[in-house]
Amino acid sequence: MKARLDHIGIAVADAAAATAWYREHFGLQVAHVETVDSQKVTAHFLPAGECLLELLEATAPTSPIATFLEKRGPGLHHVALAVDDIHAALGALKAAGVRLIDEVPRPGAEGALVAFVHPSAAQGVLVELKQPAVGARAGHLATVPLFRGPAKTTLGDLELVSLSDGFFALDGGAMFGVVPRTLWETKLPPDDRHRIPLGLRPLVVRGAGPTVLIDAGCGDKMDAKSAAIYGLDRRYHLDHSLADAGLAPEDIDVVIASHLHFDHIGGFTSRRSDGTLVPRFPKARYVAHAGEWHDATHPHERNRASYLPENFQPLMDAGVLTLVDDDAEIVPGLRYRRSGGHTAHHQVVTIASGGRTAVFAADMYPTAVHLPDPWVMGYDLYPVDTLAFKRAFSREAIEREYVVFFEHDPSMAAGYLRESAGKRTVERVL
Ligand SMILES: [Zn+2]
Ligand SMILES: [Zn+2]
Repeated sequence: MKARLDHIGIAVADAAAATAWYREHFGLQVAHVETVDSQKVTAHFLPAGECLLELLEATAPTSPIATFLEKRGPGLHHVALAVDDIHAALGALKAAGVRLIDEVPRPGAEGALVAFVHPSAAQGVLVELKQPAVGARAGHLATVPLFRGPAKTTLGDLELVSLSDGFFALDGGAMFGVVPRTLWETKLPPDDRHRIPLGLRPLVVRGAGPTVLIDAGCGDKMDAKSAAIYGLDRRYHLDHSLADAGLAPEDIDVVIASHLHFDHIGGFTSRRSDGTLVPRFPKARYVAHAGEWHDATHPHERNRASYLPENFQPLMDAGVLTLVDDDAEIVPGLRYRRSGGHTAHHQVVTIASGGRTAVFAADMYPTAVHLPDPWVMGYDLYPVDTLAFKRAFSREAIEREYVVFFEHDPSMAAGYLRESAGKRTVERVL
């Protein structure tokens, strides 16, 4: 474990006076104020370089901060260290015999998980361990608003329901390929580990015919180490999202894969308590592209980390997986359209009803920020093919007013691509 200084907590009697003092004498401004009801405190955060000062004011006489002020007067209250995996950190401390106040983490400000180490074990200092929420920068500086859903729109006779399997985070540089950081960091600011927050947004299509699910997020099989690397946040996941949309896993008739990367099909299978892997949607037939299947089952050094057999092999073994070719119509109105680029056989899924079209763009437009044609991910195996697809597709999507679904956008599920006076924008739908 290597912890990073996140903030220094200071108990104050009068936050307004204290924040004015720091502003006047040190030029520090309040970036964020949050009341934590469980602790009966209001926290004022003042960024000071890479970390922050947190000025804590009691909101009730029973607040721990009120008790602290009574006993000791205003002063240094705690030091907060950020860690990537708070459960692992607490486990290691416990094993080493370090006295803890919290053996299990609890929710802190801004969606973080926190736990306290007893001052008697830490040279007289109260130490807060903190695992920041995905999308939060060191120092609680909120980056982009996270949108979860579920959110619905209609297309002809169909209902399109954007779901969520939570959020994760990937290296911002890798997400934008050759585009310099100075251009993208204002739109999707990275955290202190250079990662940007991303959504995991499967899509349900339902109407008179079968109920279809396109992609299924990361699922619940990821080990703790990978989950920490990818900043996986599944406190709210696909089961919650399905339930909030009035659906159960048994209601899904067809499951379609845009491609077989773990962040798209991790949720296709689940592990039973006896360790066996089974299809996650018990009544569904699953559909994948034959060429993508070939590549996933013959990985090389550059794509091996993305193709995890646990996500797709059990489907073939269970006899529920159908492999199809380019442009296959999977159910009436829903078809594959080959994009290539990201992988050789990456597919977008087009949905047509009532003369209108929606497109599940998967990793062709991972976020709405990837709107410019040359903003192509460094992950793409054939970036020039991605560019060619986007060039043609964007023109078509603008002219025909496609509803485009952004599977990884942290803040938006779908939108129209618009162009006016040569400038492109995304008009949000969901
Ligand atoms: Zn992918
Ligand atoms: Zn992806």
